[in-house]
Amino acid sequence: MTNTRTPGFATRAIHAGAAPDAATGARATPIYQTTAFVFDDADHAASLFNLQTYGYVYSRLTNPTVSVLEGRLASLEGGKGATCTASGHAAQLLALFPLMGPGLEIVAANRLYGGSVTQLGRAFQKFGWTTRFVDFDDLAAVRAAITPATRVLFCESLANPGGVITDLEPIAEIAHAAKVPLVVDNTMATPALCRPFEWGADIVCHSTTKFLSGHGNAMGGAVVDSGRFDWTAAGHFPSLADAEPAYHGLRFHETFGDMAYTVHGHAVGLRDLGAAMAPLNAFLTISGIETLPLRMERHCDNALAVAEYLASHSAVAWVNYAGLPSNPYHPRAQKYLGGRAGSVFTFGVKGGYAAGKAVVEGVQLFSHLANIGDTRSLVIHPASTTHRQLTEAQRVAAGAGDDVIRVSIGLETVADLLADLDQALSRAAA
Ligand SMILES: *Cc1c(COP(=O)(O)O)cnc(C)c1O
Repeated sequence: MTNTRTPGFATRAIHAGAAPDAATGARATPIYQTTAFVFDDADHAASLFNLQTYGYVYSRLTNPTVSVLEGRLASLEGGKGATCTASGHAAQLLALFPLMGPGLEIVAANRLYGGSVTQLGRAFQKFGWTTRFVDFDDLAAVRAAITPATRVLFCESLANPGGVITDLEPIAEIAHAAKVPLVVDNTMATPALCRPFEWGADIVCHSTTKFLSGHGNAMGGAVVDSGRFDWTAAGHFPSLADAEPAYHGLRFHETFGDMAYTVHGHAVGLRDLGAAMAPLNAFLTISGIETLPLRMERHCDNALAVAEYLASHSAVAWVNYAGLPSNPYHPRAQKYLGGRAGSVFTFGVKGGYAAGKAVVEGVQLFSHLANIGDTRSLVIHPASTTHRQLTEAQRVAAGAGDDVIRVSIGLETVADLLADLDQALSRAAA
C-alpha cells in the first residue's frame, strides 16, 4: 500500500525539495558551482528562453542547489513556490518589485527591523514608492493608511528587536478588503514557530541569514508565495496580469496560474535585479534547515530561561519577552507561535547608557555584534551601535533607548549564559 500521509514538519525540514543526485547518487545536495548549463540543442535553448520548458540556463535565474532550498522553504511555509535571493533585503526588494511602481504606496508596520525601516522609508522612495508606517496594533490606523495607490501591506510576524507579535489574521482581512496582498517578514519566527499563510498572509519573505541557515555563516533571503492571491482581481498588478513585452506578450497569471508570482520572481525579478543567491550559501542554508525544528525549540527554551533569570535580577529594570506570562504579547505567542516567543528580546539595565555599554563590554561568552539567529549567543547595545545616529527621543521611539540591551540567545548550556550575564551585570552595576 502506498503511504499517502503528508510528511510532518521535521521530515520536510530534512527532505523537502531534495533527492539523491541523479548523476552521482550523492545523498547530500551537491553545490552546483557553475554559472551556466549546456543546452540539448537550439530548439531546447529557444524553449527555455521562451519559458516554455523548465530547465537551467544561467545561475542568476536558477541553479539546482538553490532550487532545492526553494522547494524546501515553499514546503515548510505551506506555499506554492519560492525565490531565493542574495540577502534578506534583496528578498524584500524582490517581493515588492512586481507589485509596485512610481506613485504607488506601501502600508508598513512601524515596528520593523531597523534596516527595513530605512529600505522601505528611504531607498524605495527613490523608485517613487512611498511607505506609510503605522502601528499595526491599531487596526483603524491601518485601514486609514490605505489609499487607492496602496498595493501591499508589509509587517513582521515576530518583530525584530522583539517583543511585538503581529495580529496577522485581522491584518490579512484588511489587506484583502483593499484587494492587495499581505507580505509578512517571517525571519524571526521561522516556519518552525509561525506559518503566516495559515493566518491569511499571501507572501512571506525571509532573511535566511538568521535562524534558517542558523550558524552565522551564510547570507541569504527568500520570497515564498502562497499561490492564493488573484493578481487579476482589481487591475492592481499589471506586471503579473498583463502582457509582458520582454517575453513576447506572455501573461504570467494566465500562463503560470498559482506559480505566476514565483516564475516572475526568477524570470523578471532575478533576471533584472540580479540579486541571486550563491550556491554555496544555498548549500549551507539547506544543511542548517535540517536541524531547524530542534534548534528553534532549544533557542526558545534557552531564551525563556534567560528572560526569567533577568526578570529577577537586581541590576535589570525590565525585560521585554513575549514568552513571559506578564508580557502583553503573551496571548499572541499562544495563538501565532505555538506558545513560544523566539530567541531575540530586549531588556533594560539599571544605570542607562553607561551601564548598557559596560554590559556588552563585560560579557565573555556572548558575542558583541550586529546579528541574530546564530548558534552562539549574541548581544548588542543599540544606543551605542545600530541606533547611534538617532537622537535620544528617536531612539526611545524605536525601542532603542539608552538602557536597552538586545540579546539573541543561542544554543549553549543555559547555566553558562546566566553566569556570563550575571558577571557582566555585576560589573556594570559596580
Ligand atoms: C536581518 C533581517 C533582515 C535583513 O536581512 P539581511 O539578510 O541582513 O539582508 C530583514 N528582516 C529582519 C527581520 C531581519 O532580522
